[in-house]
Amino acid sequence: MREEHELFLTEGPEEFENFQITNEDVPLKEGIAYPFIKAIQMVNNRLQETNPEEKQLFEIILLSTHSAEGGVRIINSVKHYDIPAALMLYHEYRTADEHLKVAFDGDSVLFSDETDVVFREQGLDEVIKYEKDREHVPIGEGPLKKFAMILGEMKKKFSPENDPICTYLVTARSGKDLGKRAIKTLRDWGLQIDEAFFMAGAPKGPLLAQIQPHIFFDDNLHNIRGARAHGIPSALVPSCCN
Ligand SMILES: [Mg+2]
Repeated sequence: MREEHELFLTEGPEEFENFQITNEDVPLKEGIAYPFIKAIQMVNNRLQETNPEEKQLFEIILLSTHSAEGGVRIINSVKHYDIPAALMLYHEYRTADEHLKVAFDGDSVLFSDETDVVFREQGLDEVIKYEKDREHVPIGEGPLKKFAMILGEMKKKFSPENDPICTYLVTARSGKDLGKRAIKTLRDWGLQIDEAFFMAGAPKGPLLAQIQPHIFFDDNLHNIRGARAHGIPSALVPSCCN
């Protein structure tokens, strides 16, 4: 993203983000770490060829200081180059005493449970197909959407540099296959989430321990327990299937 970074330095973050949104369907060029990632993938593939049950594989995590809003270009690029990675979009480290930090799970919390239902009834491959078919259709509203929207309205009362509210999306979705519809839904709602973490099924507790939110909402008891094990105050959001 060298050229884009130039733009960031010369024109500033707003121009940079607009550029990334306008060009979100144009894959980013391969960067210096690309051959390394491809070599890691090759080893993973070889391990799985040797033993299809193999669990000890390299995990690839893509970290970017990109906003969630501008993140669609990264998701499209990850898809274009077929890199299965957990994706984390975050701005900067924010100190707890200067910010109200609220973290939300995605499905069955910010979003409705429609994708969870498809996953439970038909499995992961069908979910990926389901989401791709509905890429441009926003996901339904979940029980915490209204609260998140109110936080979003309050955020707008401050300039970005002085905004004391920080919101996070911490979802089990993968960025590559299931990230796009989630980000597009937030965009459709006009809901600005500061940082988005697509965990691709990785445990949420260790990440939440880094974020240190004042509260974390999730519909999955396992995730709540994981957060609590790291001392994170968390609330279980009841959904139809608990
Ligand atoms: Mg959920």
